[in-house]
Amino acid sequence: MILVVGGAGYIGSHLVKELVEKEDVVVLDNLSTGHREAIDKRAIFVRGDLGNEEDLQMVFRSYPIKAVMHFAAFSLVGESVVDPLKYYENNVASTLTLLKVMMKFKVKNFIFSSTAATYGIPDVELIDETTKTAPINPYGQSKLMVEQMLADFSKSYGLNYVVLRYFNAAGAHESAAIGESHDPETHLIPIILQQLLGTREKVSVFGSDYDTPDGTCIRDYIHVTDLAEAHILALEALLSEEKSAETYNLGNGLGFSVKEVIETCERVTGVKANVEMADRRSGDPARLVASSDKIFTELGWKAERRLERIIEDAWRWHQKQPY
Ligand code: UDP
Repeated sequence: MILVVGGAGYIGSHLVKELVEKEDVVVLDNLSTGHREAIDKRAIFVRGDLGNEEDLQMVFRSYPIKAVMHFAAFSLVGESVVDPLKYYENNVASTLTLLKVMMKFKVKNFIFSSTAATYGIPDVELIDETTKTAPINPYGQSKLMVEQMLADFSKSYGLNYVVLRYFNAAGAHESAAIGESHDPETHLIPIILQQLLGTREKVSVFGSDYDTPDGTCIRDYIHVTDLAEAHILALEALLSEEKSAETYNLGNGLGFSVKEVIETCERVTGVKANVEMADRRSGDPARLVASSDKIFTELGWKAERRLERIIEDAWRWHQKQPY
């Protein structure tokens, strides 16, 4: 049985939907930002808190867990600057509690959701896993701290882990049964689609004077189903003992600027966006694009779904949005 912590959240719920096809799954989530309706009915759901040792012990006592996948983190850069305590408490301290209970119950396989924010402002065109990590905000720091803990736990306690550093997760399940639903929403693609649906007055472009071809920031958008598939491959590699301590980027190696994303949304939906140029948002690097060659070479994963597909699936979800 696989424990998915944070399986009611955006990325966790998409992973669970794929994973239940192959494994028995128990989801632990406190529903602070996740949605009960997003959890596939084939998974067992336990409402509980990652930072609560008793909740965790109950789960490990009740189910024969062989691996843990951890999605239960706060992930807003701006919020992490305003409230670092929240980020270090949940993303670092609670994860330490989870690892402690895992060690107690001798559960040695762990997949950790990390982030491109661990790289800070890299001065390379394509970021690979050897690019220096230098986070510029508490969110990125909190993820890097856990990565460092994992390396030490691996050496000292024999923990096997895979760290997956996501670039910009986007899109929705092709069935439109689950998708991205944050409150408040801060991510570019949902904000554009909400504007196109008329639930938001305008799209603000945060900075048009960056050192990029059209002046707006470039990001590497990756379909959430591609992300889910990478987790399954990582899990298989851990369970087959092919891998024991690895870090992989997950991106599609293509950068799109904010303006290009808006244009693609307009093309896919046939609706014109109401766009305004605005000031830069603090902490935004001009360009973040991944090389995912390492995971392709080692596990055979590559992103299959391009930006148009991401937006098509997200658009279907946003039109329906059941939760
Ligand atoms: N962005 C924007 N307007 C918005 C939201 C985001 O211009 O309303 C820009 C943001 O500055 C960044 C890119 O879109 O350059 C992607 O931002 P998002 O918050 O989606 O992801 P992040 O890269 O911060 O993880």
